[in-house]
Amino acid sequence: MNDERGRRVLVVDDKPDNAALVEAQLTRAGYDVACVDNGREALATVTFDPPDLILLDIMMPDMDGYQVLEQLKGRETTKHIPVIALTALQDRAEKLRALELGASDFLTKPVDRAELLARVRTLLELNDLWKAQGELVRMKDELLSVVSHELRTPLASLVGFTELLLTQDYSEDQRREFLIVMMHEGRRLTALINDFLDLQRMESGRQTVHLQPVDLKPLLQQAIATLGEDLERPIVLDLPAALPQVDADPDRLMQVVTNLLSNARKYSPQGGRIRVSAVMGERGVRVRIEDRGLGIPKEALPKLFQKFYRVDNSDRRSITGTGLGLAICRQIIAEHGGRIGAKSDGEGKGSTFWFTLAFSRPNPVSGDVLIVEDDVGFCRLLEAELAALGLSAVRAPNAEAALDRLATSAPKAIGLDLLLPGISGEEFLQAVAQRSRDAPPVVIITVKDLDGAQRAQLCELGAVALVPKGPEAASQAAARLAEAVIAGAMRP
Ligand code: ADP
Repeated sequence: MNDERGRRVLVVDDKPDNAALVEAQLTRAGYDVACVDNGREALATVTFDPPDLILLDIMMPDMDGYQVLEQLKGRETTKHIPVIALTALQDRAEKLRALELGASDFLTKPVDRAELLARVRTLLELNDLWKAQGELVRMKDELLSVVSHELRTPLASLVGFTELLLTQDYSEDQRREFLIVMMHEGRRLTALINDFLDLQRMESGRQTVHLQPVDLKPLLQQAIATLGEDLERPIVLDLPAALPQVDADPDRLMQVVTNLLSNARKYSPQGGRIRVSAVMGERGVRVRIEDRGLGIPKEALPKLFQKFYRVDNSDRRSITGTGLGLAICRQIIAEHGGRIGAKSDGEGKGSTFWFTLAFSRPNPVSGDVLIVEDDVGFCRLLEAELAALGLSAVRAPNAEAALDRLATSAPKAIGLDLLLPGISGEEFLQAVAQRSRDAPPVVIITVKDLDGAQRAQLCELGAVALVPKGPEAASQAAARLAEAVIAGAMRP
């Protein structure tokens, strides 16, 4: 059940030979081992960099193992770390003392290798089970609190209105009004349950992000299109001319952006323009969504991203929501390794939400070769082959993104997959050829069987080579692209 790889063990022993032996045995079994030779250092290490398990020698000068144990088990942050006491003593009372002070197990020195590995493994498995159980208890408590606080209110209103409709006589207009309230409450309940389950799945690690290089511009454009037009709350996109790709899970990122944009509209009841912009840093990008809506009171800012938190004041009482949207955004951005935040100059002064994402590769704004290909695995392979030939590359997952990129950079050659989502490879070639007479040479990489006429047409459109997509495709394409780059450089 347990995978040793990467599990971190701290060995605390004042005798270097003993420590080195244990370290070697554990390292060989795949553990990530650190050693310290005294109690004080052990406590400092554990505080700043807690391991999964500690092997603790009892007989040490200055601070002995018992004292270390007492301190470890007395601190909230370290008491859960399992400790195996290492003792040279045959004395039963001393071993019992270590167990009483909180050691989970003990091993007698000289330590037997098989016994060491078996005990470490078992203890880590038990600890994993214990942690999983703790997480289940936490989730159960949270579910209970959600059911008792958050679900009861809309349910009570649904039941209340149903009873009224069944027992009293109302005019047609009133009945309709009640039914509309009931529909809204029903929808709110559904949204609440969906959002809550979504968040639970993410927190329990069952739903993880799958990162790939993503072009932000088309993703943001799509998010804006999804929200539809609202003439009183128009959304404007204001991006730098060339925005490098970021590492992201497109679906999850879409969820974040649509959430922030729909909040910007929802909390701008008087209308107002919404601006989406991006600022490039050295390693990544900061996306900002700025509205001119209700703004956020200062005291609410630190709590905004907490689950179920909603700013409660008269302006917003009629605006429905679950208080989970921002918590979901925070979780998704955290899983991307990014940060998210909000600022506002106060109520009525609008709000700005921002998040950061890392660039896919350092400084990929322009490269020698533009790879137009939606298969990320093949892209990586081709990039590696090109790098081996001294060429840098940028990627575009589809023809639209590639055309955007060509608007701001001038690659020396293009590697093009003909089978692309959206605009086809042939259409892309035509668009490139129409744009400029100096279009870069194109190496076609394709699974398609092309006849003579098709080949001739591709040549006319600027293709200089055709590489069939087989096992050697990446290295062959890299070689053809390198030739194209060199030929271009030698042109007068
Ligand atoms: P909700 O479902 O309530 O919109 P969120 O988690 O998305 O939940 O947001 C939490 C709270 O943060 C909201 O109730 C709202 O008070 C505040 N908020 C979020 N976005 C904005 C915004 N753009 N302007 C003003 N307040 C906002």
